Amino acid sequence: MHISVIGSGYVGTTIAACFAELGHTVTTIDIDEEIVAALSAGHAPIDEPGLEDLLESHAGDSLEATTSYDAVVESDVTFLAIGTPSNDDGSIDLTALEAAAEATGETLADKENRHLVVIKSTVTPTSIETVLEPAVTRGSGGNENIEVGMNPEFLREGSAVSDFMQPDKLVYGTDSEWATERLHAIYEPLLADHDAHIVETDPATASMIKYANNAFLASKISLVNDLGNICKEFGLDAYEVMEAVGLDDRISERFLRSGVGWGGSCFPKDVNAIIAAAREEGYDPALLEASVEINDRQPERMLELLEHHVALEGSHIAVLGLSFKPRTDDIRNSRAIPVIEKLQDRGAEVVAYDPVAVDPMRERFPDAEYANSAAEALDGADGVAVVTDWDEFAVLDREFDAMDEPVVVDGRRIVERRDGIVYEGLTY
Ligand code: NAD
Repeated sequence: MHISVIGSGYVGTTIAACFAELGHTVTTIDIDEEIVAALSAGHAPIDEPGLEDLLESHAGDSLEATTSYDAVVESDVTFLAIGTPSNDDGSIDLTALEAAAEATGETLADKENRHLVVIKSTVTPTSIETVLEPAVTRGSGGNENIEVGMNPEFLREGSAVSDFMQPDKLVYGTDSEWATERLHAIYEPLLADHDAHIVETDPATASMIKYANNAFLASKISLVNDLGNICKEFGLDAYEVMEAVGLDDRISERFLRSGVGWGGSCFPKDVNAIIAAAREEGYDPALLEASVEINDRQPERMLELLEHHVALEGSHIAVLGLSFKPRTDDIRNSRAIPVIEKLQDRGAEVVAYDPVAVDPMRERFPDAEYANSAAEALDGADGVAVVTDWDEFAVLDREFDAMDEPVVVDGRRIVERRDGIVYEGLTY
């Protein structure tokens, strides 16, 4: 099939490269010329394991990149993978996606064959019917050959390619059997050697499945953090407790690691968006609001633990890990941001280190110091806050000798507890 993918960010680039790998002909479209130039040269604009290899093998062959929407008309199906950020009140900002939907419609105004426009972006249940479908219709002058569907994406940054290639489920939100069949034809090569559940539903339900999924996972972590904070108050190890809890099949052992909280480009934005959408419908989603509140509390608890051992005013504090999770350079809503902000507010000098995310964080906090290694960050530090569980922090050892009296507050249970270190686990 010939597929066009609009938006070449984390999702758009990954799905485009994977569709090419599945044997489709793919054209990616982005308004950012630098991204398009990188993709045309077979380079990944983002840091994702396996992505560069896929781009190298398909760029210039079954995978083309352009800034022009003209390519849409040549394709059979168009995926929209544009960012859906938050407004100040947490509600979804559809401006960019709506513009892309309208521009897609414009290029399809005279198309005589049926064309499927698939929303890949995460959108609230009413967005397609009230905003996106009307935008496509407006653009196309009401061309009835165009249908709009929803196919939410569940990949995680850091393992985007393998998540996409081995999904637990594929959700097809469409208004017709034809559209469902089209989506199925796209994913069929993937299902040849991988079992995935197929969910066939309507676009609004498909949109809600994505939010329910993320709200559930985020709230599971917040619940585990709440229980973890209680464990800490009792002097108990939340990891020991949750390991036993996870033996219950109804709960599962996944997502039971307590710590400094969830971040990234999806959980915070999506939980806030569905809270705002629910409120607009007149419903008060009390549990989701509490999930956000508990998440906001964790960085503060980290600072309180540090303050038990170090007077922060005028101190040097090493912050280890800046990306929102390991194996990505994405710092969007990383817990390192409130940790650094709170340290600076209390008069501490921050020396930050991350294997790949120093540059984006330097833009966010130009006044912090940045080290080239964990060892350099620890040198002369009065305390350490571990925010991201990069593997290399598990093997820090003699590096702590560079501190006078090593104090480590570990927000991810990654550093090994050992003699000669004051070690505080956030929830254990
Ligand atoms: P992103 O910000 O990384 O990428 C969006 C891209 O769209 C950018 O490259 C931007 O230049 C481009 N763009 C903006 N306006 C455009 C236009 N009019 N025409 C063409 N290109 C345009 O976003 P992302 O992280 O890939 O997320 C996209 C959507 O997928 C969001 O709704 C997000 O919630 C959802 N999602 C993201 C993830 C994830 O892990 N990042 C996972 C699942 C779902």
